[in-house]
Amino acid sequence: MGQRLKYKLRKFLENPFYKRRDFYVKLTFTIFCIALFVVLFCLCDGTVYFEKIIYAKDYVGDPFQVHVIDVENGDAYLIHLPTNETLMVDTGSARYGDRVESYIKQYFYYEKIDTIDYLVLTHSDEDHTGNAVSLMKKFNVKNIIRPIQYSKYEEENSMIDKNYSVSSGVTYNEAIRYAIDYEIAMTFADELDTMSFGECEIEFLQLKSKYYSNENNYSIIFKITYKTKSFLFMGDAESKVEDEMIDKYGDELKADVLKVGHHGSKTSSSQKFLEFVNPQIAILSCADRSSILPSIEVVERLSDMQIKIASTANEGNFVMRIYNNGVEFAKATRKPNYLVIILTLEMILVFIVWKSPFYDPKKNLLYKR
Ligand SMILES: [Zn+2]
Repeated sequence: MGQRLKYKLRKFLENPFYKRRDFYVKLTFTIFCIALFVVLFCLCDGTVYFEKIIYAKDYVGDPFQVHVIDVENGDAYLIHLPTNETLMVDTGSARYGDRVESYIKQYFYYEKIDTIDYLVLTHSDEDHTGNAVSLMKKFNVKNIIRPIQYSKYEEENSMIDKNYSVSSGVTYNEAIRYAIDYEIAMTFADELDTMSFGECEIEFLQLKSKYYSNENNYSIIFKITYKTKSFLFMGDAESKVEDEMIDKYGDELKADVLKVGHHGSKTSSSQKFLEFVNPQIAILSCADRSSILPSIEVVERLSDMQIKIASTANEGNFVMRIYNNGVEFAKATRKPNYLVIILTLEMILVFIVWKSPFYDPKKNLLYKR
């Protein structure tokens, strides 16, 4: 090192400003880093940044989005409507409550929304209603669209005034009871015909009967059409109801995307029904560990008909939209978390600052020649 440079460095280290670079300076620097992180955390809504469930955010801001949440063998769909309203279809099972809540929180954050305007409980099974009470407690749910079945609670409290059966579903019973206690508006699916949300229309397809031996067959079936494309949601309806739908609606069943009934079980998706719907894409809500669902028969039937399969087992969470007159699909993928990068850099800087020797007043100098 040249003499001149050494001299300059020594002068710098003798500088009173540098001499004050002691414990308090380091502490101030650390506090500054913490404060900076807290500010950034609040500005970017850090709680969403650190959610463990990955949100499918490719189509944020798109007027029509269908989010498919991976709840294994269960259903949980979030539909973003062009009027900025939200329609949620089923809640998944209670054991996947964290996943669904985390997903909704992120959806609210990215779409700047704070309400679930409509919660459709397709039928009483736990894998569809298990998380309903928890969602009603945590989020602002405005309306419930329910299947044509009463709950035990309504039966016990003489609240039955229609000719419907009573469901034995425990979580359905709890959900209806909670909605009654907290005065959340409820509508039976057979009271609805079509609902319009700007360029989007939802048509509720009505069941032929009021009584079925299997609760799956009470599933609310509806078709959402946005611009030129449509999605048909089947809940867990089985072949018996599929046949009834063919009789009643025939070619009206045609849809571009089919939310396959009963997680791909062979009790649903008959060849005849698939031919009537004639979808390009089939959505399957199912688990990858299950050996029963989806049934090989149904998967083969879909493949033979060249229907593309989008399953939660293979894709995890994903989102669909209508774009350029076609249906687009995007999987939820982990994007770089800038808050984590900033936090790591700050921690390295703080570490370096604290590791450098304290100013020693006895020696007067840090730098030794
Ligand atoms: Zn189910």
